[in-house]
Amino acid sequence: MTFDLDLFVIGAGSGGVRAARIAAGHGAKVMVAEEFRIGGTCVIRGCVPKKLYVYASRFAGDFEAAESFGWRLAQKPEFDWNKLVAAKEAEISRLSGLYAANLAKANVEIVQERAEIEGPHEVLLKTSGRRLTARHILVATGGAPQMHPEIPGIEHAISSNEIFDLPDFPQKLVVVGSGYIAVEFASIFARLGAEVTLLFRADRILRGFDDFMRDGLTEALAAAGARQMAGVLPTAIDNTADGLRINLSNGETLAADQILIATGRAPHTVGLGLEKAGVEREWNGAIRVDCESRTNVPSIHAVGDVTHRINLTPVAIREGHLLADRLFGGSVQMVDYDFIPTAVFTTPEIGTVGLTETEAREKYPTVDIYQTSFRPMKATLSGGADRTRMKIVVDGDSDRVLGVHILGEDAGEMVQALAISLRLGAKKADFDATMALHPSAAEELVTLRTRTARYTRHQ
Ligand code: NDP
Repeated sequence: MTFDLDLFVIGAGSGGVRAARIAAGHGAKVMVAEEFRIGGTCVIRGCVPKKLYVYASRFAGDFEAAESFGWRLAQKPEFDWNKLVAAKEAEISRLSGLYAANLAKANVEIVQERAEIEGPHEVLLKTSGRRLTARHILVATGGAPQMHPEIPGIEHAISSNEIFDLPDFPQKLVVVGSGYIAVEFASIFARLGAEVTLLFRADRILRGFDDFMRDGLTEALAAAGARQMAGVLPTAIDNTADGLRINLSNGETLAADQILIATGRAPHTVGLGLEKAGVEREWNGAIRVDCESRTNVPSIHAVGDVTHRINLTPVAIREGHLLADRLFGGSVQMVDYDFIPTAVFTTPEIGTVGLTETEAREKYPTVDIYQTSFRPMKATLSGGADRTRMKIVVDGDSDRVLGVHILGEDAGEMVQALAISLRLGAKKADFDATMALHPSAAEELVTLRTRTARYTRHQ
């Protein structure tokens, strides 16, 4: 059979763009369709703009600390929301342009319109009506915020898609959820000066993270002025002349300028035509794939958030890259999902790699814990109340380090580097034998000699 293309990619986000470029590099004829902006969630309305806003939010603390280090601020600093939004827009437009230019340089054809699957080897471009055949089709359409139509008035709430470009800075922000997105935006907006309330169904923020980190961040968010209401959810939202009013499950009412719903993201598969080709999905709408990112239809593949495996940009990129290598470069390499480092970009931030204490205790008969909490050096002059927390989780039998969790400045940077040693099977004795870099926060990781606790299975 002959085809118009070797690979047709639906979605020009992190996973799709990487797969397209690598496939083209192997000599494949590739086309990418994107209905929104080139770059996907991460570049346009996710990781990249979020990190820029995190930087903006951190100046608040820096200005406060500056005087303790001898600076005198001539006037009280003022924050200009619209200036930040415009600066962010310029940067993501630059990045989006760069993505498009790199695709073009790699001889990938970009079509800026919606594409839908018509069969195992066929796609339809919705605006132009063009039909194309491809040896392989890759679905890399990502995810979309999960809103809650059952809540009356939910149309007055926003998702993380809209929060970056609000015309006015929300003086009163209510955030629903307590995952990555919820706590990151609560931290950003509290530091930028908004009155923030975080509502969530669980008893604590960040389910799945190490409890020591969760408790530390709970304290830090409270210190930054973010009110946290555990076990509380909105039941109705009214749009009144005086702003939004939210009825809560505990009977209280809250006023807000904006309500951010951050209760997870769902795979973006609606109307894609998957059923026309017979592609199977999971109960949650995710495209079901095997360990090679192949669906039950051998010519159709899927990578990234649309498969709802590990919803992180670098994972989507790796999945797309290795898929293209396997399909067109003769490689047999598979994605290694072990020891994926991740950060929660609150202030202070959390960096984590490997198992939490709870996970390790479920899996290993003997688990040793080394943990510390200390005042970071910068706070000694500024008088800030912040504490850095670190925890090393060790297999008590083999001495192998199973996980490291850090709450504090540059935790993400530290954990990225630590991930290499954990992948290589580093033992606690290797940490101990490593020379400290002084003065730094990271030196605590190699000087933490006293075990905090040992747990054996029968305990
Ligand atoms: P998360 O999965 O991190 O968190 C979802 C939150 O929504 C949890 O607090 C969860 O509560 C709550 N929730 C889920 N369903 C309901 C419901 N029906 N009613 C009330 N609350 C509910 O999702 P996010 O939206 O924060 O982020 C989406 C994904 O994006 C993440 O999984 C992450 O992989 C990625 N991401 C990564 C970032 C990073 O690497 N820094 C930053 C932002 C996003 P509960 O705890 O009770 O289950």
